[in-house]
Amino acid sequence: MEWESPLYREALLQFERVAEIAGLDANIRERLRTPQRALVVTFPFRRDDYGSVDTVFGYRVQHLLTMGPTKGGIRFAADVNLGEVAALAMLMTWKCAIVGLPFGGAKGGVRVNPNELSRAEMQRLTRRYTMEIINFIGPDKDIPAPDLGTNEDVMAWIMDTYSTHVGHTEPAVVTGKPPAVGGSVARREATGRGLVSLLPSTAAHVGLPVEGATVAVQGFGNVGKYAALAATQLGCKVVAVSDITGAIHNDSGFDVEKLMSWTTENRGIKGFPDSDEIDPADLLTLDVDVLIPAAVGNVITEHNVDDIRAKVIMEGANGPISSAADQTLSEGGVFIVPDILANAGGVTVSYFEWVQDLQNYFWSESEIVGRLREIMNRAFQEVLETATTHGTDMRTAALIKGISRVTQAKLARGVYP
Ligand code: GLU
Repeated sequence: MEWESPLYREALLQFERVAEIAGLDANIRERLRTPQRALVVTFPFRRDDYGSVDTVFGYRVQHLLTMGPTKGGIRFAADVNLGEVAALAMLMTWKCAIVGLPFGGAKGGVRVNPNELSRAEMQRLTRRYTMEIINFIGPDKDIPAPDLGTNEDVMAWIMDTYSTHVGHTEPAVVTGKPPAVGGSVARREATGRGLVSLLPSTAAHVGLPVEGATVAVQGFGNVGKYAALAATQLGCKVVAVSDITGAIHNDSGFDVEKLMSWTTENRGIKGFPDSDEIDPADLLTLDVDVLIPAAVGNVITEHNVDDIRAKVIMEGANGPISSAADQTLSEGGVFIVPDILANAGGVTVSYFEWVQDLQNYFWSESEIVGRLREIMNRAFQEVLETATTHGTDMRTAALIKGISRVTQAKLARGVYP
């Protein structure tokens, strides 16, 4: 199959399992297994010496066009491939449906290591990638956003390239932009904040006091950083954090604001005062109340699952737990808030950003944060109810909810012609 990759196989297995439980219509089942559209491009960009030109692969996959435009991030990573992007596009479909956004799922990627590029190279690469996919995206077609290895600057360059090409400023073509060019306030913090807004309900469900709960966060990027900050604001103790420079630990809990300033000044958490350095792999197996994997996919697998001691895992990253490990953890009584629910705050505020751009009317931070919290917690309660009704874990319940919503829309629309 075109999409063959470990992640796609997992996404499909998960889908088939839930389709069975939900008694999904056979025609719909067949239709949802594969993305509706996929674009593969190769394109060149100039390195800073001007003479060297690198050619790279780029992708944009749209899984489902039924719900409205498609939505999802663009990742820059050295190992991105079509199968990975296709799997993540499918997960975006479920994610948007779970929180009730009028989007189908999409995802894009460029196979390049962003850490090896200068800012100018990043910009040229982004602009050329945008040109390659320009007919595929648009405010009412497909709206990209940040993901692994991309950020606000990259979104601003996409917006600028698209706008230049169509001849007028079109902020609604991407979300996660800087506020100066139509980005939404609180978008940057949205994934981490949205995730932590589920912590009180999660803790109440498992009988854990929020005040003083110990938290370990893997990854101190856009998701991990703001999740850690929001957790301390709730009275939790963030006792361990990691990023690409290493992992640090402090039993009494970090001052996350100080750690954030340190990270900006020192390009990483390494060397932060009053902390012990630990092996980054050991962060995942610490005896904490809440573990937040917020870096990359597939970090909890059959190799370390037996050592996991956290009571609750809230998935900030997409796909941090392999399906084998997921089963072991659930059977062992670990309460997992799955990625498609836990990290849906990002795309939810992306939705707010898109709406604000289309209307040229911008909301206050408190309106955004209030609506985000409301949407996230409503989705959480609905998923929890589904889990109770069907006797399943939260991931299965979230998928049942997402897939059912999409199915209703597909049945209502019917088949053309
Ligand atoms: N890349 C993020 C995700 O995986 C955000 C997508 C968006 O905001 O469209 O959910």
